[in-house]
Formats: sequence, C-alpha cells, structure tokens
Amino acid sequence: MNQLQPILLYCATIWGLYGHREISNIQNRAGGFFLSVPRNASNCAVQGELGWRTCLTQQQIESFRCFVKLYHMSEDRLTNKVFRWSMNRKGSFSFNLVKLGRQWLLYDTLLSPTSGINCKISVIKQRLCRLDEEKWFSELLDDVGKAIGNKLRTYRLFKKDCRPELYVRYIISRHRQSNLSKLRCGILPLNIEIGFYSKPPTPINQRLCPFCDSAESEAHFLVNCAFYHDLNIDEFSFSPDDSNHLKFIMVMNTTEIKVLKLVAYTINDLCYKKKAVTFLIYFTYVLFYICHEHNRPDCILYIFLVNLC
Ligand SMILES: [Zn+2]
Repeated sequence: MNQLQPILLYCATIWGLYGHREISNIQNRAGGFFLSVPRNASNCAVQGELGWRTCLTQQQIESFRCFVKLYHMSEDRLTNKVFRWSMNRKGSFSFNLVKLGRQWLLYDTLLSPTSGINCKISVIKQRLCRLDEEKWFSELLDDVGKAIGNKLRTYRLFKKDCRPELYVRYIISRHRQSNLSKLRCGILPLNIEIGFYSKPPTPINQRLCPFCDSAESEAHFLVNCAFYHDLNIDEFSFSPDDSNHLKFIMVMNTTEIKVLKLVAYTINDLCYKKKAVTFLIYFTYVLFYICHEHNRPDCILYIFLVNLC
C-alpha cells in the first residue's frame, strides 16, 4: 500500500472530494493480489483483512489537510485571501469542504481559530476513519437482495473491526496465506460457496458435504467434519462444551503466531486432501464406466480392490 498510495492519491487535494470508481477498483485489485484471492472475493472482506481505508476517505483526509493549512496561513498572503473569499462561493473547493465538514460534525473543528494545524488534522482523521469503519461494518451486515446466500455469511461471525489481521503482517508462504484468506473470506470452493453459483442457486440447506450429511460450511470443513478428523485442529485447548461455531470463531480470531501458523498449515492440508480424494473418486468413476462399457467385470473387481487399499 505504501507504494500504491502515492500514485493513487497524487494531487488528491484537488480532485479527491468525491469518489472515483476506477481508483477504488485499483485498490481492491491490489488488495486481492496481496491476499492471493480470486476476483470474486468480496471487496468488503479484502478491506477488512488488510485494514485499509477506502480511497475516498484517504482522498478526503488529504483535501481537509490542505484546507486546514490554507486556513491557518498568514492573512497577508494572497493565497489566504483568495481562500477566504472562495469560502462563500458556491461550488468552490473551500465551500464544498465546509459543507462536508458541517455534514460530518467537523464544522467547529475546521473553523476553530484556537486549535493548531496538527490537532485539527488529527481530529478530522479520526472522525473520517471512524465513519469509514462504520460504513464498512454496515456493508458487512448488509443482506439486502442476497436472500440465497451471502459471501460474508461466515466472515461476519468473527470479524468485528476493520483492522489488519495478524497473518497479513506475518510472513507465511503465499500458498498457505491464499488458502487461509479464501477460507476467511468465504470463497474457498466448498459446497456452501459452489452452490451459490449453480443455476438456479442451490438452497443453503442442500449444500451438503460430499463426505457426510452436514452442510459444508467453513466451520464444518475446519473443525467438525469426521472425514478430515486426522487433520483437524486438535491442538487447540477446546472445552468439551464448545460448539463448532464457537471453536471456529476461536480458531479464526487467534492472536498467537504459533497457532496461526498451525491453522494455515492445517487449512492447506485439508484443501489438499479434499482435492486428492475428489480426483480419486472422479477417476474411479470414469474407470468403472469404461470397464462397464467394455464388459470387463474383472477390471471392475481390480479397481474396487485398489480403492479398498
Ligand atoms: Zn463433512
């Protein structure tokens, strides 16, 4: 972000008062690339994982910073005279910023003659960041028009603030980080997610695990499914009374690097096992079909014995 931000926000003071979709798209794509998640990942989840502020908020902070500096400039200078004159001119830079400041309860801070520049900028920054986080949180909980399923169904269970996650700051291999990010963002190819894309979309209660009769959700995949029992995270000190739901939230919210590493490794192994078994089942099915077509019951018996082994 440190490399991207100076380019994205170049001269944002001038043009940054309102949002521009192209700039947000670039930031979202950079976030997706950093987390190694596909493009169907929710921008809200990517932003939450990285703890980035939206481009609009960063642009507006820059604009307000310029406003405060101009406001505190010596009154003898022509720039300050023009700035104060334009404050009453509808549509001007300073007029629009005062309007926004009034809307966001920053009016008194902006025009206070006693507060210093740094103090004002700090207050404005805090206020805009809080508004940004509130907007992010309302988007996280927004289910309007998503009756058949929401990518953020799992994410909202454990993510409660828009701050960078530990695994983003800690160096783990890119492949493991990718699988962990996908699981957290709800886009790992589990049936709960795949069913969303079938036509027509599969009802949520019918998106079942291929290895048992439960719904194949992220929590089931990581802490509950008996098929993955040899790989499941048993090292956690779970209480026998903890529900699967609670276990999953505890695993996702861990703050210990050692445990985090274990989670990333386990998710990677689970994904690998699922892929390998799915491939084996498909391969066996094709062989059965070919042997059946060519009337070779001896081959069918052989395949059956190999699979038993
Ligand atoms: Zn299962």
